[in-house]
Amino acid sequence: MDLKSGYPYWAVKNGLMYAFPRLDADLRCDVAVVGAGITGALIADELAGHGHDVVVLEQRDVCWGSTSASTALLQYEIDTHAIDLARRYDQATALLAYQSCLRAISEIGAVAQEVKDVDFAPCQSLYYASNRADHSRLADEFAWREKHGFPVRWLSRAALKDEFGLTAPGAILSSVAARVDPYRLASRLLRRMQRQGTRVFDRTQVKSIKATARSVQLTTASGISIKAGHAVIASGYEAQCWLRRRVAKNRSSYAYISDPVDPAELRWLAGTLLWESARPYLYLRSTGDGRLLVGGEDDDRDIPARRDRLVDRKAATLQRKISRLFPHLQARPAFAWAGTFAETSDGLPLFGRHPQYGARVLFALAYGGNGITYSMLGAGLLRAQIERRPHPLSGLFAFSRLG
Ligand SMILES: Cc1cc2nc3c(=O)[nH]c(=O)nc-3n(C[C@H](O)[C@H](O)[C@H](O)COP(=O)(O)OP(=O)(O)OC[C@H]3O[C@@H](n4cnc5c(N)ncnc54)[C@H](O)[C@@H]3O)c2cc1C
Repeated sequence: MDLKSGYPYWAVKNGLMYAFPRLDADLRCDVAVVGAGITGALIADELAGHGHDVVVLEQRDVCWGSTSASTALLQYEIDTHAIDLARRYDQATALLAYQSCLRAISEIGAVAQEVKDVDFAPCQSLYYASNRADHSRLADEFAWREKHGFPVRWLSRAALKDEFGLTAPGAILSSVAARVDPYRLASRLLRRMQRQGTRVFDRTQVKSIKATARSVQLTTASGISIKAGHAVIASGYEAQCWLRRRVAKNRSSYAYISDPVDPAELRWLAGTLLWESARPYLYLRSTGDGRLLVGGEDDDRDIPARRDRLVDRKAATLQRKISRLFPHLQARPAFAWAGTFAETSDGLPLFGRHPQYGARVLFALAYGGNGITYSMLGAGLLRAQIERRPHPLSGLFAFSRLG
């Protein structure tokens, strides 16, 4: 499966940061993590940091999957509004999902601070109504969040114009959000783990999973065997190949990054993530070196060759939209790309055991627009499951909710 098209900026900027050995002999471990993207890296770090003997297996170079294509806006506000989650499940569930994601932003910040130099920065997030029809939905969402103590402020049309120079019917301003270079964060985490004794292998593809009540045996494409107490399948959007029934829909998302922009032109965009209520939404944020990163134009294409051909056209459309919003801003595409991502029907991820495999195989499917936030939550959740402790998100993120 080809996970990306064009020139994902993080891969261009950082290059191949670290090389790891290929696995060439059988081994044993407590936990085998399959997939070394941001999800596998955060989970392996959480487990290794708490005394588990972890092995990480990656079929490509590490972080070369969708992690290198991510635009990495870190938000607690997920693609499904809290009021819609409350309607679909109940108030307590919506609150649990939103409060957990809120907590995850500072948890990612703490990890970023430990590994250092990953362009992490706290930001605010401005979520504007794309049209008048969405205004009341957004106002209801704001009321729910305010009532439950989330760090939000409502901006009327006039306030939005006055404070941000934006023309829209209204917006929710959240003071908690962040940005990061996800490729660098995951790569540096893996490198740190390796230095501290965790075994990390790249160019090592897992071909089969056999689970019993007591252990899991993984076999690689070259016939090498890994015997583990648990396996964590953190193989991103490709993980669905291990499941008989599809659990999410694959889509493509498009992005571009500009050359560095004059700070006087960037203004408040230097510290604010911006997104809108339309679906698919347009979104943007800046990087530490003052570039503007713009994304959106998602479609249902799952055929890489067709997506490859569309990258430049989609980037031009995104730029036109940005020019309409910010006529003063010169933010032409310097690099443009696209990536596969997957969405579940309720916008929530899937972490934990699947009935096809029993208790020793745990999936880590951080699907949805907030994948990185979910990966952070999944790290704590899967550690609790491996250590046989209850976790508040075990039920909400379980496969069983799909029926
Ligand atoms: C364009 C785009 C924009 C996005 N924007 C955001 C955003 O703003 N905020 C946000 O939070 N999220 C965002 N996401 C989602 C986020 O990027 C993903 O949730 C995240 O990258 C998923 O990481 P992962 O580690 O699960 O998957 P991946 O990075 O794909 O890692 C999985 C790894 O598993 C490996 N693998 C697969 N099968 C095997 C096998 N059999 N054996 C060994 N290894 C295997 C793959 O090679 C891959 O490296 C975006 C995604 C895209 C594509």
